[in-house]
Amino acid sequence: MKKRIILKIGSSTLTRGTNQISRGKIEDIARQIIALRTDYDIVLVSSGAIATARQFMELSGETIAVKQALAAIGQPVLLRIYQEVFGDFGLKVAQCLMHSQDFDRAQSRENIGNTIDILLKSGYIPIINENDTVATEEIQFGDNDKLAALTAALLKVDLLILASDIDGLYSGDPKANKKVELIERVEDIAAVIHLAGESTSNHGTGGMNSKLAAAKICQAHQIEMWIVNGSVEGFAVKALRGEMAFTQFVGTK
Ligand code: GLU
Repeated sequence: MKKRIILKIGSSTLTRGTNQISRGKIEDIARQIIALRTDYDIVLVSSGAIATARQFMELSGETIAVKQALAAIGQPVLLRIYQEVFGDFGLKVAQCLMHSQDFDRAQSRENIGNTIDILLKSGYIPIINENDTVATEEIQFGDNDKLAALTAALLKVDLLILASDIDGLYSGDPKANKKVELIERVEDIAAVIHLAGESTSNHGTGGMNSKLAAAKICQAHQIEMWIVNGSVEGFAVKALRGEMAFTQFVGTK
């Protein structure tokens, strides 16, 4: 049986830090899926619904409700972009919208697992996002990091890769201090929690806090999680081949 990887792509990776969804980055992800698909089934967790809507419309105010409306407008367009770009590579996509509370109900858990199993067996790439009409958790904090970790635990995947806009967890703030070092392996999450800081990116609401919270969920379920720099071309493939540095949170202590 193939191994399973969840690849979580945040808004700032998808926009390459600009105000536009980057088709180039989506092409990069498609190429990586093709490179990996002999050995791995890939599930995507993708943000970017709000960022997509912002490309072509404005709603006044920055309230959570406005962001929810933007997500509702942007999500189908985002999926269309995935469908178009992945389609050029012969890849088929499916959309799964869910909410962290869904993971608390046994029936919903079973439903999620069944749907994703059939999609993968049928050669479709599930693209998961939070259902932002009913939930606001990931809009407010996390940029889908927690959703990705909960999904990783539910599907018992072999690996969760969180694409970030930096190389991983550093021993200090890399923007303030050039001498800080990348921490390549973390066994004890509690021992590094103070390093998370308050970092967030322009688009995403993630940052290290939500990534470490995701790592805790993964470790509680013996799932390996990596933070990898998603701005690097071929980041997941390179990380898997040991061709770039990243931060590994080991699944078992
Ligand atoms: N579900 C939201 C979206 O797709 C996540 C918001 C965020 O980027 O923080 O836009």
